[in-house]
Amino acid sequence: MEERGISAEISPLIAPGGLQFTAHGGDRTTLFEVLDRTFQPADLLISDHEPRLPQLFVSDMDSTMIMAECIDELADFAGLKPQIAAITERAMQGELDFESALRERVLLLRGLSEVAIAECLATRIAPMPGARVLVETLKSKGCKTVLVTGGFHQFADPVAEQLGFEMVVANRLEINGGQLTGGLVGGITDSGVKRAVLIEEATMIGAGAITLATGDGANDIPMLMEATYGLAYAAKAKAREAADGWVERGDLTGVLDLLGVPRNDWVWE
Ligand SMILES: [Mg+2]
Repeated sequence: MEERGISAEISPLIAPGGLQFTAHGGDRTTLFEVLDRTFQPADLLISDHEPRLPQLFVSDMDSTMIMAECIDELADFAGLKPQIAAITERAMQGELDFESALRERVLLLRGLSEVAIAECLATRIAPMPGARVLVETLKSKGCKTVLVTGGFHQFADPVAEQLGFEMVVANRLEINGGQLTGGLVGGITDSGVKRAVLIEEATMIGAGAITLATGDGANDIPMLMEATYGLAYAAKAKAREAADGWVERGDLTGVLDLLGVPRNDWVWE
């Protein structure tokens, strides 16, 4: 293959149906663009070295590890979908920052019962296909796994338990007398915190730790950029552009294929 200053040699398959290229010349953006256009839809990871097993995996939850945005589901459950959507829209227009948008939406949920959260979790929150295989396989290779989310502990803790994550960083809905107060407890987990968690945990592993991050949204971008391998999963365009690659075609086990983890080693329990 030869295009726009990039020459590439095809190497042996890394996964069934997969190709590995060694490319020379050109810049990263052009390489992404050429590969994306030539092989679309394809899962892709660009790395300046043969991918290695990560020692740390940090992932977003909403629309990455679960097939929903938990605040939207909770709002819908409470019959507040239009009000919450209006705030989301203002945030997207740049009229509200992440924290203000989060606080305004949580305030609307005041009075909702704890039982409703449990019911919402049980009926509306499902794991993303391949999520548990990804987490358990990485763990079996000695990788530390962290779920980091702008969503809530009330959702993230049971999701982490179900998928096998060892640690959770999230926001916490304040509850008093079995009802949401409309407030949050403690600091806010936002894009900066997501990145900081990745750096902190990597530092504890040691210098040069190999890290993997997955996410789909704008507030995952700093974390995706910081990781050795930042992978966008079924992501919004901006997150996709900031990442080292993406999984678009299949489920989350595509991440294992991209890292070259042999399918015989995948943990399906
Ligand atoms: Mg997300």
